[in-house]
Amino acid sequence: MMPTQSPPFIQKIKGGCLCGAVSFEVVNAFEKLFLCSCDQCRQITGSAFASNLFVSLEGFEWLGGAGDIIKYQVPGRDISKSFCRVCGSGVPWANGNGTKMIVPAGSLSEAPDVAERVRIFASEQPSWASGLEQVSAHAAFPESPRSEPKR
Ligand SMILES: [Zn+2]
Ligand SMILES: [Zn+2]
Repeated sequence: MMPTQSPPFIQKIKGGCLCGAVSFEVVNAFEKLFLCSCDQCRQITGSAFASNLFVSLEGFEWLGGAGDIIKYQVPGRDISKSFCRVCGSGVPWANGNGTKMIVPAGSLSEAPDVAERVRIFASEQPSWASGLEQVSAHAAFPESPRSEPKR
């Protein structure tokens, strides 16, 4: 007798918003991570760049809180932002033609398995976020006389 073919093991990882209202599960196999420094992503994130993963609709599933999501669409552009109405965290959304889910990497609770990382619109990277390798780095808050632990 031929052994029955078992489906390949598919590893999934979870993600969600800071307050826990929104949660989802996604197949952990991402082709690309796009780090986008365009002006719209700077404003939408309030930070230097957006970090977005793309995944097929079939590989994505809401676990809870889909009704707590607010979506803002930039008029006339294929740019949008979805966020939790309670805590404001960025959460996944479907792309313009509804073929893929775009997952903000920071919304995942585990490290995604990414084949390639790509920076796009690097020419629009704000000057205050350039040369990050040269910025002093601290494991947590920098040491200062005022931040000594209470005892
Ligand atoms: Zn939330
Ligand atoms: Zn962008």
